[in-house]
Amino acid sequence: MNYRKFSADKIFTGYSMLENQEVLITDAEGVVVDIVEREHAGDDIQILNGIISPGFINCHCHLELSHLKGVIPEKTGLVSFILSILSQRNANEETILEAMEIAEKEMINNGIVAVGDISNNALSLSQKQKNNLYYHNFIEVSGFSPAIANLRFDSAKEVYHQFKNCFPNQTSLVPHAPYSVSKELFHLIESIKETRISSIHNQETKEENEFFQTGRGDFNRLYETIGSDIKSFYTYSGKSSLQTVLPNISIPEKILLVHNTVTNQDDINSLKVKESRTKTIFCLCINANLYIENSVPPIDLFMNNNLEIVLGTDSLASNHSLSIVSEIVSIQKHFPEMPLETILNWSTINGAKALGIENTKGSFEKGKKPGIVNIVGITKENTLTTKTAVRVLL
Ligand SMILES: [Zn+2]
Repeated sequence: MNYRKFSADKIFTGYSMLENQEVLITDAEGVVVDIVEREHAGDDIQILNGIISPGFINCHCHLELSHLKGVIPEKTGLVSFILSILSQRNANEETILEAMEIAEKEMINNGIVAVGDISNNALSLSQKQKNNLYYHNFIEVSGFSPAIANLRFDSAKEVYHQFKNCFPNQTSLVPHAPYSVSKELFHLIESIKETRISSIHNQETKEENEFFQTGRGDFNRLYETIGSDIKSFYTYSGKSSLQTVLPNISIPEKILLVHNTVTNQDDINSLKVKESRTKTIFCLCINANLYIENSVPPIDLFMNNNLEIVLGTDSLASNHSLSIVSEIVSIQKHFPEMPLETILNWSTINGAKALGIENTKGSFEKGKKPGIVNIVGITKENTLTTKTAVRVLL
């Protein structure tokens, strides 16, 4: 057999950092054979600087919004951001397709091997069918007025079936967010019994909680602007957004809660009650939070609670790049105590588990083909900097 052999200052296995210049051995296609000590590895070892890591898993993206790169103003708050997206997301198909192709290339160059991607329409399907990257397709539905629940569900189901035909095991129909899905629509989503992995945008801003706790705040401006008369059907619950919708969510084996910027201990406790039915995964998109709200999620709180954490880039509408390394740089900047090993764990095997692909990706374990990336430009203290680069080896 034709072997490939890689060594570097450190090898991150997906779980832990090996620091004795061990050697990663793969076959010619990149399927992991073993990790051995240098003295037992024989000849023809490719010796690199920095860290060798399995390919990254980007658990939250919206490929179809790639043409909005640099279009939406920064730090204006979530409601203004959503209104900008709604008014500017339409473009000619060619522009959208071209932007998606470029964005996908960027992810590949940045060492991303799998993506949890939100789709509101079928425009990204042709790009995904090229199979350059692994995608789990979250077909997203929204509609806050109970009167439009059936209509919205039926049209989302059409998109769902289009994706399902091409990617039978990589497609889910999911709710957008607590403030955009009615109880009736949640109910219809839950009627799809085959869902294994779900996703929902959660507690992205304090105004989101305010809307459910008091009925007041900026979200009223959202519904007014889009012409939705919520007074006829909406009463606030007095609870946080997550705690309000939690009773409406029950089926999937796993659910990704995306953002969690203002999630607190009380919310986490409420999840623990449901834990036996639902495995909850906290997906962090720190660069998007900084872009939209200029805030960061309480990652130390999540760690203290031993929560399952994964990373996402969100879309180019709310991020300057689609790069997990860039997310890590921001996390380390705001949480300097966070060990790199832990964040890399979120970026690799945790992400793979979240998307249900841990048998093939996320770690250097025998028989897997996780992709191999080389991270260089790291400081002695294991800090990644904006000058840090990733090279894709296999
Ligand atoms: Zn998103």
